[in-house]
Formats: sequence, structure tokens, C-alpha cells
Amino acid sequence: MTENFRKLYAAAEGLRVYRAPGRVNLIGEHTDYNLGFVCPVALQLATYVAAAPSAGGKLRIHSEHHGETREFDAGAIAGLQPQQHWTDYPIGVAQQLVRAGFAIAPANLLIRSTVPEGSGLSSSAALEVSSALAFLNGRVLAPLELARLCQRAEREFVGMPCGIMDQYISVFGQENTAVEIDCRSLEHRDVRLPGGIAFMAVNTMVKHALAGSAYKERVAECAEAAARMQVASLRDATPEQVESAGLPDPVLRRARHVVTEDGRVERFIQAAARGDLAAMGKLLVESHRSLQHDYEVSCPELDFLVDAALGIPGVIGSRMTGGGFGGCTVTMLRPDAAVRFQTEIGRAYQKQFGVAPQIYECQPSTGAGEWKDVAAIPAAR
Ligand code: ADP
Ligand code: MG
Repeated sequence: MTENFRKLYAAAEGLRVYRAPGRVNLIGEHTDYNLGFVCPVALQLATYVAAAPSAGGKLRIHSEHHGETREFDAGAIAGLQPQQHWTDYPIGVAQQLVRAGFAIAPANLLIRSTVPEGSGLSSSAALEVSSALAFLNGRVLAPLELARLCQRAEREFVGMPCGIMDQYISVFGQENTAVEIDCRSLEHRDVRLPGGIAFMAVNTMVKHALAGSAYKERVAECAEAAARMQVASLRDATPEQVESAGLPDPVLRRARHVVTEDGRVERFIQAAARGDLAAMGKLLVESHRSLQHDYEVSCPELDFLVDAALGIPGVIGSRMTGGGFGGCTVTMLRPDAAVRFQTEIGRAYQKQFGVAPQIYECQPSTGAGEWKDVAAIPAAR
């Protein structure tokens, strides 16, 4: 990465690298912006931002993935408007940092990522958090503030009304454990996963065009359900309340998904604690069905991957993960079934849709921070 940096910017004095991981959400989908519960894992797949101070007042940002460099006046970040471009993510973060009292110094940045883009593994939060650390360049911002600042950047500058999950887990991820986040109190606890299981994400390789607009529509439908029931958010409603509130369709089904999903997160964690793999797997599938039929954010490719996975020996459960309308599924399976699973799911998907799905092992990894081993940054995916 240093070589690339030199090629792009001629010099690399003072170069530092910051890493922030993507994530896979095991269960608790579309609950974060309803201030409920989620249970993600930070991945080894991550975004790396290399940054070095520059002379001349410019902030330059290069994305290896996009093969493109953009230049901004470091002193004029506060007044910039979104461009509907990938730089909205780092610039949105820079603008929030300025508002929080952190001046943005002239610098050259190089972005490398192993998180597949737009695949539900949160390349966006990985980019936001790694960029924020690069802009801070050693200045301290409390971890929770870092996550919240990056969420504000995505909501206010990028224009996506996201919850806190992605930024939170990218900051607070831990090796060997999943993390349960209470999206209202913003507290979390470790979720020790039982032995004898592995998680794999399978990428449909599609992102349907309505993903962004449907996400906003779901956020609005949930707000409508909460308003009709006179609760602050769906976090405060019980399944019984939702069923008896006289909500119109499809608002009823949207609310039903959210409140039952919150329940599934709790039951999943309890099942994990007692090592009840079958119960964990069943909850994953119930979550998928709820997202498929009540929340209606799945798509034929995701449904196919889930159904195909459930027919492969050693698979314990499977569901779509992330916002939906494409992206990835997450599958829980016995580790000794992993090779066969990859072969069979790959073959089946290729036969059905004519594309080979990418498959990623979901080994829980550590959250964001400076990456000292500059020589050992993985090659871009
Ligand atoms: P997800 O977070 O699930 O990957 P999003 O649609 O939320 O999907 O975010 C994807 C967007 O984030 C991309 O379209 C791009 O604008 C930006 N992005 C992510 N990774 C990179 C990268 N390495 N370089 C430039 N932009 C990136
Ligand atoms: Mg995202």
C-alpha cells in the first residue's frame, strides 16, 4: 500500500494507516433505526485508509476500488454539499469532525478495502470510520462519539437514514465474539458463540436499484406505526400491541417484523448461551421469513441462497443479512461442512443465476484502530 501511495502522491512522509472492519449481522435486521436490538460480528474484511500530511492546503482522496482521486480545499470542508459520489462518505465525516471542533488538515489519503461494496457487509461504515480515524490522525474522540459522528455523516450528508449498528460494530467489534447492541441505550455486551459452528456470508453479487428508496420507505412506515400506536419508537411496542392497534397494511406487517425480530435477537442470544444450535438456526430462518414476507426487503436471489443453503448437509440456519434487495446471506453451519457448502451453494447459484457468488468466512475480528503493520495490509479484493 505504501508503494501505491508513493506512486500516487510522490511522497509518503508521516504516513499512517487506519483500519475499520465491515460486519455481518447475525440477527436483528432493520431493528437498529427502531432503537431495538442487533447482534453483529465485525469481520476481518476491512477498509484501510493511508494518510500523510500534505503542503498546499489540499485534501486529496483516492479510492483504489474506484481508481479515482478527488481534491478538496481542506479549509472549506464545512461548506461542501453532497455530490452523490463515493467521496460523500469521507467528506460527510470530515464535515461532522469540523462541526465537532476538529480542524481538517491538508492531507493525501489512499483508500483500500477488502469489504465488497454495496453487499450488505457495510463497506460504507468501514469507509466512514477508517476515514474519521485518518482525519483525526491520533487526536482522540471517544469510541461511542466516533460511531455516532459517522452515523450522522451517513444520515445528514449521504442522505441515508441509517441506524447506529454498522458504525457501532465497526468501532466496537471484538475477536471471537458477536456483540449485542441495544440501539437505544447504546450499550453492548459480548455474545460468546458456542463451539462447533461457523458463519459464512454468500454474496448474491446483485444490488437492486430500489434498495435505497425502499430503505427510506421502511423507515417511514416504522415511524408511522409508532406514531399510530403513540409510542416513541417500535422498541416500545409489544407484538400484542402491534396486532391489536388496527394498523393498516403494509404498516402492520412492517411493525410485526420489527417487534418479533427484537424478540428473536433475545432468544438467539439465550440459545447461544445454552449451546442450543438447533434453536439458533431456527431463529435465523424465522428472521429470514419475516424479512421476506412481512418486511418485504428480500429478493429472489437472497431467497434462493437461503433455501439452497438449508438443503445442504451441515447447515444449521440461514438468512439474508444487511438492508436487503441483494447483498449477502449469512449461514450458520458445522465447520466440517464448510468446504462442501461452498462448492454446492456456488454451483447451485451459478446454475440458477449465471454468476458465481463470492463467499466469505465470518471470523469475528477486532474493531477500528490504527494499523501498525503497514507492510501487511491485505491486497484489495
Ligand atoms: P454497504 O455498506 O452494504 O457496502 P452501501 O450502499 O451502504 O452498501 O455503501 C456502499 C457505498 O460506499 C459505495 O457505493 C461507495 O459509494 C462507498 N464505498 C464503500 N467502499 C468504498 C471504497 N473502498 N472506495 C470508495 N467508496 C466506497
Ligand atoms: Mg452501508
